[in-house]
Amino acid sequence: MTDNIGKYRELGLYDAAELLYKSERVLIIFHINPDGDATGSAFALRHALEWLGKRAHCVCAASVPERLQFICVDAQSSVSADGIPEGFEPDLTVSVDTASPSQMGALYDKYEGKIGLMIDHHEKGTPYADNYIVPGASSCGEVLYGVICRLAEMCGKSENEIPPRVCELIYTATSSDTGCFKYNNVKPETHTLAAKLIERGIDAADINHKLFGIKTLKQMQVEHAGFERMNFYSGGKIAIITFPYDLKAQYGAEDEHLETLIDVARCIKGVEVAAVIKQPTEEQRFRVSMRSSCDFDVSEICAHYGGGGHARAAGCTLLSDSILAAEMTIVVAVEQRMQNEQNK
Ligand code: AMP
Ligand code: MN
Ligand code: MN
Repeated sequence: MTDNIGKYRELGLYDAAELLYKSERVLIIFHINPDGDATGSAFALRHALEWLGKRAHCVCAASVPERLQFICVDAQSSVSADGIPEGFEPDLTVSVDTASPSQMGALYDKYEGKIGLMIDHHEKGTPYADNYIVPGASSCGEVLYGVICRLAEMCGKSENEIPPRVCELIYTATSSDTGCFKYNNVKPETHTLAAKLIERGIDAADINHKLFGIKTLKQMQVEHAGFERMNFYSGGKIAIITFPYDLKAQYGAEDEHLETLIDVARCIKGVEVAAVIKQPTEEQRFRVSMRSSCDFDVSEICAHYGGGGHARAAGCTLLSDSILAAEMTIVVAVEQRMQNEQNK
């Protein structure tokens, strides 16, 4: 966790914008298990750079879920790791919304040491490049909007000229990471940003409907199966859903169908800490998603296992003998921390 501290420069807004200003061909990496913030930020940056006469491409080591395809529908090329057009030699590689190397998946091996800038908003992670991180910002989209405004200014353009598509994607990113502007990461400036974007004419209701108003039948079936498997601990304060690979196979589910499982656990009255432990493949490698609805900081637990995130939403990957062992690891870690908090 601390290996890289001091190795990379913490940049300011101006430096981050200047790096982009000086580049002509930019490769944009976003995290696996892509969400609306990562995907929206990556494509907002791509469109903004193209608007300013630069070339840009987005890549991710995982495919973008069907429900978020509306973000990249107008992109010229695929976003897969090998979707970079032949002959595209970036002079800057930027990552967005990606706090740790592990979140880059297979792409990290390829780009380790070659990333010139990370733009992010996570409080906990492992920096792997010179970075412009605004911890506590609602979303990477919000951070990026500031960078795009500054970059536009450097290119002799004004904020009001930022293309509507960029505005839509920034709104998508911000709405996605704030749960439609309802989480405690929403600050007055988040609403100010949303207001500005809506003033530019974007269809916020349509974006929010796509993000939050629709679920596939498969998602609902998976949620039902997850609900039946939920375990409670500490008198109902902790709720954990495990979703082993064989169940995933039984439902013919993809990773994206498991994304909303965490909401099933966290919305139950009395639950303070919710976790979902998924087994994406047959490997004994478990992907943990954690959420808190109180002051309990789940990012501390995830950071301990090499992951990170925010106080109320964090993730990590556990290597365990079984999914049950992974569940027990999380239960013990949460219970111990709850106990320590109580004794303070
Ligand atoms: P998830 O449960 O995968 O939706 O992740 C919840 C939050 O934690 C998101 O903001 C993620 O970007 C962040 N996160 C997940 N995994 C990691 C990790 N390995 N390192 C840093 N942040 C993470
Ligand atoms: Mn994200
Ligand atoms: Mn984010």
